[in-house]
Amino acid sequence: MTHGLQPLCGSAGPFGCIGGPLSRGPVQPAVKAYLMKIYRKVFPYMDIFEQRRKKILIMKGLRRDTSIKVSSRDRADQVFYTCPSCGEVSPMAALEENLQVCPRCGFHKKLGAYERIRILTDEGSFREHGSRVKAGNVLGFPGYEAEMKNAELASGLKEAFVYGTAAIGGHPLVIGVLDSSFIMGSMGSAVGEKVTLSAELAGKKGLPLVIFSAIGGARMQEGTVSLMQMAKTSAAIKRFSDKGGLFISCMTNPTTGGVTASFASLGDIIIAEPGALIGFAGPRVIEQTIGKKLPEGFQRSEFLLEHGFVDMIVPRKDLRDRLGLLLGLHERGKQHGRA
Ligand SMILES: [Zn+2]
Repeated sequence: MTHGLQPLCGSAGPFGCIGGPLSRGPVQPAVKAYLMKIYRKVFPYMDIFEQRRKKILIMKGLRRDTSIKVSSRDRADQVFYTCPSCGEVSPMAALEENLQVCPRCGFHKKLGAYERIRILTDEGSFREHGSRVKAGNVLGFPGYEAEMKNAELASGLKEAFVYGTAAIGGHPLVIGVLDSSFIMGSMGSAVGEKVTLSAELAGKKGLPLVIFSAIGGARMQEGTVSLMQMAKTSAAIKRFSDKGGLFISCMTNPTTGGVTASFASLGDIIIAEPGALIGFAGPRVIEQTIGKKLPEGFQRSEFLLEHGFVDMIVPRKDLRDRLGLLLGLHERGKQHGRA
């Protein structure tokens, strides 16, 4: 039986420690039987405590809306995810198999940069560029270095944007992904620089550029420098576009702030994940500013598709094929143009 209690010495059994180095000899059978009786009476309640502990963990997980880890005697290390949209609790393994999409309601969970690249691109084709680009504390903002260090440790990333060359369905491209796990995917000087470098790399190599956006407000620790990235990245996309480059912008849930207000909205083709919140300010702020109730589904992918801001909504499971198709068409178009 495992009740979370460890014997104090190496002896087996609940009373193993009694026969330890301090005892004068083995436990008498009568004493042992008596102790076992007490043990059976008292320790079944440990199960209740264990169950209570599990319930508390589950409730904490539900409140925080994150994945929760529950230890179990039968299944030692099982991990669950609670869908914030429908409340369905799914084992992480099942969720992973479904590309981090809720099997019940189709809610698209956030993906990390490397995970998205792994899911989308041909195996082994990704070559990262610009991995050494990091933000500096240009304004001397208190605690910014420590926050970046913590974000680095928590996310395993050096910055909130990852880019490089890869292939999808055999079609080469430059792919860039914003990762919201690094300081909320905010756009500071390093993110702006990396987005610019990705557009320049695509221009230099004559490849299409595909960027996935997530969250992406200005990084307040960098003040005006952060706001300047909107102009910088927009100019980089314009230069790339002037050279005839194809830029596909993919907006995931949520894409907001300075990223929406700059490069993410400048795609030749704008793709959105189903149900993604896409906008500049949040709906509550807009309602408070204009003093009116917003229409149903405002700032969601479906609403934006209906109003012409988004070109297509593609579920995650179809995204790789759809991108492959678009990249293939573009390649053929270029070859046809040269002939
Ligand atoms: Zn769901």
